[in-house]
Amino acid sequence: MLVPLPLKAIADKHGVLSPELALGYRAVGIAREEYDALDDVRAMVCNTTPARFAFDALLGSGNVSVHDFGQHAYTFCHTSTGSVLRLKTRAGVLLLPAWCRSVEDRFLRSRSSEDFAVAAYQAVVSEMVARVLTAPADQVFLARRYRCRPVGEYPDVLCRFARCERCEAWTRLNRLYDVEGFLLCAACAEIDPSWFATAARSDAADTIR
Ligand SMILES: [Zn+2]
Repeated sequence: MLVPLPLKAIADKHGVLSPELALGYRAVGIAREEYDALDDVRAMVCNTTPARFAFDALLGSGNVSVHDFGQHAYTFCHTSTGSVLRLKTRAGVLLLPAWCRSVEDRFLRSRSSEDFAVAAYQAVVSEMVARVLTAPADQVFLARRYRCRPVGEYPDVLCRFARCERCEAWTRLNRLYDVEGFLLCAACAEIDPSWFATAARSDAADTIR
């Protein structure tokens, strides 16, 4: 298949064009369209798959945080407007047929497998990469959009702690975020505190569970 040149360059650098890398590349492309450009855009990668290589290459590693939440999910924030785009990969997008998984297992165990099986496996993976790159965005990701801003910026705040309105953890105000009118901790807001300078200055141990 024809692969976009920037993606090919990233794959060449890291050795392989995997579906996860393609997914990261596609996610950043959707964010670029959403915000017209990637200026002031920061991102959180919720897994440690090769998707992060695309994020580092396209956004700059200083604008990307990687957390091993075991989710094929990606959150972008346009920091000057607080506009957040959350992309969660749809179930099934990265699902290999059972026979492919057994080829994978055999290959990992013995470092060898029948050539025809490996060729068929590679064809399935290539098809998966093509689908990730070319299917309509809403068939690849579930998208959620919301506005987010640090509560600590409100001038009339007197008390230092409040409960997150989703998980109910007592949280320091400068670690709470206004998400569409709800006060949420960073985890429930699905954002990275470092995106917001006010929150970034506060210390790390300020959530009471
Ligand atoms: Zn919470």
